[in-house]
Amino acid sequence: MVNKLIAKILPYMPQKLVWQFSKEYIAGETIDDAVKASKELNKEGILTTIDVLGEFIKNLGEAEANKREYLEVIEIAERAGVKGNYSLKPTFFGLLIDTETAYGHIREIVAKAASHGNFVRIDMEDSPCTDREIELFRRLKAEFPSNVGLVLQAYLKRTYQDIKNMKDLHRADIPLNFRLCKGIYVEPASISYKNYDEINHHFLEDIELMLQEGMYPAIATHDKPVVEGALKLIEKYQVPKDRYEFQMLYGVTPALRKSLVDQGHTMRVYVPFGKQWFGYCTRRIKENPKMASVIMKAIFFK
Ligand code: FAD
Repeated sequence: MVNKLIAKILPYMPQKLVWQFSKEYIAGETIDDAVKASKELNKEGILTTIDVLGEFIKNLGEAEANKREYLEVIEIAERAGVKGNYSLKPTFFGLLIDTETAYGHIREIVAKAASHGNFVRIDMEDSPCTDREIELFRRLKAEFPSNVGLVLQAYLKRTYQDIKNMKDLHRADIPLNFRLCKGIYVEPASISYKNYDEINHHFLEDIELMLQEGMYPAIATHDKPVVEGALKLIEKYQVPKDRYEFQMLYGVTPALRKSLVDQGHTMRVYVPFGKQWFGYCTRRIKENPKMASVIMKAIFFK
């Protein structure tokens, strides 16, 4: 109830106030902010994945500018020696308006990262995008086998089968690299698991399948029981430390993050930045009012 109320009023709150509790989760507005935040994390032994905030553009003209911004991010971050890679959302390049145009832009970004021997992660958006994002990944993977990875969402009932269906892209020398997360969007019950335990069960089932197949899972969660379950699987399959990584969002559960780093596991933090932070934060909360309780805590329990 309170969560829903906050989700409703948030877009009308002054940006300055919203920034007070968003700044913990966003690196800033500029590329320099993202590079600075990444270098700080690098000092703690943490890798990063930089993301320019923005999604679901309405006008294809914006896609060209967004591509240019990503190319600049890569140029600057590589020059600064950031230890990290890049994440992007295909709807930021017009995936749902014109798939081929979006593909062309994203291909250029992946080619630029590849020219530096680096890597781009294709984020997974809501379910109308799933097939298109898998197809996009397939095409990019054919051209840039070592430089591109995909996100999969444990709450989608199709995910276990999607992993199996993509086995043809796996090579022993270049393992398929999937980030697995729970999933942030509100999806219909017909296609998604809704219950916390059920989602966690499928999360670990998907990770187990990836490990059995020799794939490289990026285990993206802040949920301690899921982290512990993943650690048990890593132990069960005696997975070497360079065949998986953990990932967390900027500013979230730093203590859990540190404990994994201290145990010698690879950790990568998602570093979002950009002028569109306000829209991003308010949309996330509208989509998933449960996030409002996180914000309530940030405001009242500091
Ligand atoms: P939860 O059970 O949701 O959370 C566990 C605990 O973590 C919570 O109790 C809370 O204390 C803390 N927590 C979780 N999230 C936050 C937060 N944002 N702020 C503050 N505290 C928090 N989703 C997609 O759909 N597509 C993607 O491409 C995608 N990429 C992601 C990349 C990374 C690196 C990460 C970590 C997540 C990504 N997500 C993505 C979001 C993901 O799907 C989940 O919505 C989010 O991670 C919360 O799930 P959880 O596993 O942490 O578990």
